[in-house]
Amino acid sequence: MISEKMYELGTKKSTIRTIYEYGRMRAAEVGEENIYDFSLGNPNVPSPEGVKQSIFDILNEMEPCAIHGYTIAPGDPGVRETLAASINKRFGTKLTGKNLFMTAGAAAAITIVFKALSEPDDEFIAFAPFFPEYRCFVESTGAKLIVVPAHPVDFQIDFAAFESCITKNTKAVIVNSPNNPSGAVYSENTIKKLVAILAAKEQEYAHPIFLISDEPYREIVYDGIEVPYLTKYYMDTIVCYSYSKSLSMPGERIGYIAVPDEITGFGKVYGAIAGAGRVLTHVNAPSLFQQVIARCADMTSDISAYEKNGKLLYNGLIEAGFTCVKPQGAFYLFPKALEDDDYAFCERAKKYDLLLVPGTDFGCPGYFRASYCIKLETIEKSLPFFKKLAAEYEK
Ligand code: PLP
Repeated sequence: MISEKMYELGTKKSTIRTIYEYGRMRAAEVGEENIYDFSLGNPNVPSPEGVKQSIFDILNEMEPCAIHGYTIAPGDPGVRETLAASINKRFGTKLTGKNLFMTAGAAAAITIVFKALSEPDDEFIAFAPFFPEYRCFVESTGAKLIVVPAHPVDFQIDFAAFESCITKNTKAVIVNSPNNPSGAVYSENTIKKLVAILAAKEQEYAHPIFLISDEPYREIVYDGIEVPYLTKYYMDTIVCYSYSKSLSMPGERIGYIAVPDEITGFGKVYGAIAGAGRVLTHVNAPSLFQQVIARCADMTSDISAYEKNGKLLYNGLIEAGFTCVKPQGAFYLFPKALEDDDYAFCERAKKYDLLLVPGTDFGCPGYFRASYCIKLETIEKSLPFFKKLAAEYEK
């Protein structure tokens, strides 16, 4: 009668959502100030003032029908030219508007790309720990998600494991750096090794293996660390970008796909992206916000708050006895749980109203994610409870 798979996806809540809703219930019972909710990745730093000003200016300057009307399917040509110029200026690329396809955020961008590339028997590779939605996005195209186990020492890449996952059916590899949930940023060395393997496998199998770069956290990095721009290292790269985090506006649903001219079969790939956008009805990304980002392309929210939060939480957890790779970007910590069963560990943490997400959901059992885009005071107040939780395991 209906698609059981869609029913399951629509009714079975994600663990993150379930924990968040539990937090809302507890907040009603014991007060917001007594809940330490590390579950969601919802930016808590306001958008730059320029976003608000741009909205006012657009409303005052442009014709209402131009602001709120349809754009062409890939997005407003002027907006795409402006964004391409901004990307070129920052990363030394040679994009023009025709290389960009505007989307409703990174989720739409990745979904479109998976759909555009997918043929029967295809496999897409992701590295654990990974954004949990990849699985249903890939599987909805009929393709298979292959997961490379984590390299927990630094959450870079286990290259031997990666190589053994590539087969003649590998269509693409998706990377996410800065990473949700580990906070790791792939170094230039990691990228060079990764693309060398891909280039060799393209030769061996005589077909392109695309690299999809999912980068909603590109600007959220600490200690001046560089995030390599992948099209410069590997020509078969497709970039999926979003303004959800860099401009703190995930609810406005705006981002883009960048397909460089050098990619194998540019016309076919871009055409398939347009086709996938069409069947998924991800055409004409929100018109007003296309205009807004064109005016705010070079701005970012003040990320110093995340850096401060991250340092406080990281130092606090290390002091409490946790093991954790120091985050280089994004706004998540991914420490080792204090027992093998990460679900049991997160359940136990609830006793102190510490709301944490089990690592299993990110393809990495035995770990947990703590999202620190929350108030600094909440982190400060939570630290004694992390200590109490850790002490329970010392007994
Ligand atoms: N990719 C990763 C790694 C994410 O963490 C998220 C959101 O948290 C997305 C994609 C989706 O982002 P958007 O809000 O732009 O759809």
